[in-house]
Amino acid sequence: MAKCPVCGRPLKWETLIEQMLILPNFRELLKDRETFLKTLEDFVFKCPECKEEFYGRTLPRGEAEKVFELLNDFKEGIDYERKVVRLKLTNLLALEVMLEEWDRRVKRRAP
Ligand SMILES: [Zn+2]
Repeated sequence: MAKCPVCGRPLKWETLIEQMLILPNFRELLKDRETFLKTLEDFVFKCPECKEEFYGRTLPRGEAEKVFELLNDFKEGIDYERKVVRLKLTNLLALEVMLEEWDRRVKRRAP
């Protein structure tokens, strides 16, 4: 789960991505996975709790990769006009982790 590297509080991916929407080429970034991840790593985020700034590279890369996929799967997930992320990314990520765990358990049980 994404956490602020300064205060340790959990961060919501939807609010993190909303911060990135100030980038004029954000839509373009969603076309290429490596470009998206590289831009995210170099982006300076601001923690909504402690207001400290930190680089995106301190966030879990595995989650960033899934966020990229989710934003591509649900094209309506971002309201560019109002600069709002409609998708509950953090909840979706948690759900995905749960399903993966479920999948592992089922496979372990299979003969
Ligand atoms: Zn913080």
